[in-house]
Amino acid sequence: MAKVYNWQIGREMDYRFEGGKVNRQFAAVFNINRCIACQTCTMACKSTWTFSPGQELMWWNNVETKPYGGYPLQWDVKALDLQEKANPGGQVWDPKQKDAAKAPYGKFEGKTIFESADGVNQVVTGYLPAEDEWKTPNIYEDTATMYPKNGVTLPTHEGWFFYLQRICNHCTYPACLAACPRNAVYKREEDGIVLIDQERCRGYRKCVEACPYKKSMYRPSTRTSEKCIGCYPRVEGSDPLTEGLPMETRCMTACIGKIRLQGLVKVGDDGLWLQDRTNPLYFLVNVEKVALPLYPQFGTQPNVYYIPPRWVPRDYLQQMFGPGVDDAIERYTNPSRELLAVLQLFRATQKIVFSYKVEEGPKTGELNIAGKKRELFNDTVIGFDSQGREIVRVKVDEPLIERPERFAMNTI
Ligand code: SF4
Ligand code: SF4
Repeated sequence: MAKVYNWQIGREMDYRFEGGKVNRQFAAVFNINRCIACQTCTMACKSTWTFSPGQELMWWNNVETKPYGGYPLQWDVKALDLQEKANPGGQVWDPKQKDAAKAPYGKFEGKTIFESADGVNQVVTGYLPAEDEWKTPNIYEDTATMYPKNGVTLPTHEGWFFYLQRICNHCTYPACLAACPRNAVYKREEDGIVLIDQERCRGYRKCVEACPYKKSMYRPSTRTSEKCIGCYPRVEGSDPLTEGLPMETRCMTACIGKIRLQGLVKVGDDGLWLQDRTNPLYFLVNVEKVALPLYPQFGTQPNVYYIPPRWVPRDYLQQMFGPGVDDAIERYTNPSRELLAVLQLFRATQKIVFSYKVEEGPKTGELNIAGKKRELFNDTVIGFDSQGREIVRVKVDEPLIERPERFAMNTI
């Protein structure tokens, strides 16, 4: 086992390989607060990549209703249970051991899925779901914990549910990669996308067993495992649609709720994100810290980040996203002027935004939220591509568009 640094858990940890060097890392932010569970992302992925025989139960992108839903069934409850059994009472964080760059959420003092494995029978603690568990990807949709008689109010709802959007996290320390006895799983240096070499794979399903997020899946018709490929032709700019420019994945660009923003971040030799203040993902994750990793305690250093839902009990969210939850919700509820502008970049263009700038606009109003006064400004956020060319320009205020008189009657 090598020692690698995992900044999401604020410490070194054991991993099968030395940290592989990547120049850039595929990353995304999902704003849970805005998702309407329309499943457009799910179908965009399915109709592009997993429509063939043997892929019927394969949903590389899925949106499940928490707390009861899960694809495969109860994947996270089972993974958390295994960790708890391996280290009873010890799966805890020390949020006080914080360091802005190297341990922004504090230190996880429990065991990761790499550290709880015995190293003989398993390299990574995990389990193989039964076939039945993959058959109901959207079970318990819209099922709340309870239906309160008197309605609900913030800060947290008495009865609640929320939608969790899930793809492969293209982890920095992928469990699927560590577990493969054939070394068929690899992580690309140019963008950190994790792929399975279909020629090398023999279908042992060790990746399916090891991935705590259950985002590697077995295909019986080819007897190999498959997973989300990060729509790499689009990210590379080699898809004819992209005109040579890096473009976001199908699930991101199809999103009706405008909840998704994907890009590429710069990574240093030590695995930490390099300072890149005007990259919108860097800003959301590292500066504002409004977006958090999913189950960072598993230890894979996932690269999809979530703006947590405001109405859900905090202890549930802290288990899911770590100790940064309270700060993230506070910043999202009372956003800075810059954050409000950057949030407008979600789904404003299909091209990857590598940097942004905000132009200040006039004051347009005042709000009072939970006793705090807020001023509103109609600022403009401008996004640039990898070459520094402007690709998108959005104002904070939505434009008012009046329907021309000649279209007043639909029949004309
Ligand atoms: S989410 Fe799972 S399948 Fe994807 S890279 Fe991480 S460990 Fe591998
Ligand atoms: S397309 Fe967007 S809004 Fe619709 S389910 Fe997917 S993530 Fe949610």
